[in-house]
Amino acid sequence: MAGLPEPVEALINAFERLPGIGPKTASRLAFYILRQPEETSRALAEALLAIKTATSLCPICFHITGAGQEKCEICADTRRDETQLCVVEEPLDVLVVERTGGFMGRYHVLHGVLSPIEGIGPEHLKIRPLLERVREGKIREVIVATNPSMEGDATALYLRTQLQPMGVRITRLARGLPVGGDIEYADQNTLLRALAGRQDL
Ligand SMILES: [Zn+2]
Repeated sequence: MAGLPEPVEALINAFERLPGIGPKTASRLAFYILRQPEETSRALAEALLAIKTATSLCPICFHITGAGQEKCEICADTRRDETQLCVVEEPLDVLVVERTGGFMGRYHVLHGVLSPIEGIGPEHLKIRPLLERVREGKIREVIVATNPSMEGDATALYLRTQLQPMGVRITRLARGLPVGGDIEYADQNTLLRALAGRQDL
């Protein structure tokens, strides 16, 4: 934007790179912060850094956990069913499924979906560790809860070809979720129904 000092422009650009934020919102956010006391900026900057330095991924399920923790809370919870595994795209999806209260098994976070167009193959996702977990033999059902999108479906089918020889039941969330939408936008009841009505893949 013409006529703006470089730091203002830099912050607008940084906001614009965030998902769902267009140029207008980016400018509004930057000017809002400009008007706030320095403490607001400092707290925001510290939170932005801490999310990288004070967190890590659970080595078992790849959900986000506090740095230095051996495993995440869900993996550490011995009351949870070890025979059911819910496979999701992103850590946020774990929270979404947890919020329904309808699942008491374990999770596996893929950190994305297969996308030949974007050059994302199985080796870019946490698929190998998933296969290793299933190969250990405790898991009896793998619920594939990837989004009902083309990539989500393709990922589910790929997982089926990999998991089928291991003799586990493979299910997919029932239709009824908005097609093309992310499971994170589904309301709790819809997701609960999709979970309860899951079908063999
Ligand atoms: Zn975990």
